[in-house]
Amino acid sequence: MEGEDDSRYPYCRSLFIDDDITALIDPGAGVRPLTELKRTHHVDMVFNTHFHFDHIACNYLFDTSRILINDKEAPLLRDRREIPRVIGIEEVYGKGWVGGWLERIADPATEKSPYSPQNNHEWWLSTGRVDGEYRWGEVVDFGKVRMHIIGAPGHSGGFSCMFFPRYGAIYVADLDLTPFGPWYAGSDGDIDQFIASCRTIEEVDAEYFITGHEMGVLGREEFRAGMDRYLAVIDERDEKILSVLSTPRSLEEVAGFGLIYGRRFHVDAWVYMWEFITIKKHLQRMERQQRVSRIGDRFAAA
Ligand SMILES: [Zn+2]
Repeated sequence: MEGEDDSRYPYCRSLFIDDDITALIDPGAGVRPLTELKRTHHVDMVFNTHFHFDHIACNYLFDTSRILINDKEAPLLRDRREIPRVIGIEEVYGKGWVGGWLERIADPATEKSPYSPQNNHEWWLSTGRVDGEYRWGEVVDFGKVRMHIIGAPGHSGGFSCMFFPRYGAIYVADLDLTPFGPWYAGSDGDIDQFIASCRTIEEVDAEYFITGHEMGVLGREEFRAGMDRYLAVIDERDEKILSVLSTPRSLEEVAGFGLIYGRRFHVDAWVYMWEFITIKKHLQRMERQQRVSRIGDRFAAA
């Protein structure tokens, strides 16, 4: 199911399985298409590939469906107060920010940000309920369709891809090959895990790679070729960061350049949070690779 706005974030492409048991993967296509689906079909099960906003946004519409998410992230949906610890709020702004965030999402009248879904009320509506957990490696049988759940951490800690061998199709969600590049800007994100997961998923024996955003459904060769270009964005980010490190700079100074998102978008606290965490992960990784050295709390190109 195509999402609104070409499945651009904060929407996503959803997958509906119309079998003896009906299932919806990642209800982030938007209220309009998903309300239409609900009018014509009963959805027995809803699967979230991971807990990010754009993949859970319309969970709340499916009040008579069983909601399932991976066992690693189920605690976040069960108790939304856990989300700030994993998404980056606590890491960047401290625990003091959490109460205010929960108050803002609880109130449907809170003004939304144009740049992130940080204040969207769906955060409140679509969390607080999980009916079950799935595990990596599990196979779910809907009747004719069998779904293999493949763990692919890095984008988030519990991120999962859904593979349908009989149809040669795999839903790869946020391994989406968009020009922006890989996203690992949560506290649970990990660049090396992200790369390893992409390499695992591109080896899956599928003909159709169903991305979660923008790029649509890609054939095997298209997906593999696109993957190299997509992962090269990680190296380009390294280069951009190194280019400002001829002078030693603190993490905050580097984040302040807006190399990833653009400084003008930092007016949104969540965009700055993503910028900060992305830069931090790159600096730490380049330090491990001895491409960056640390002098006190400052970093310099090695
Ligand atoms: Zn995501």
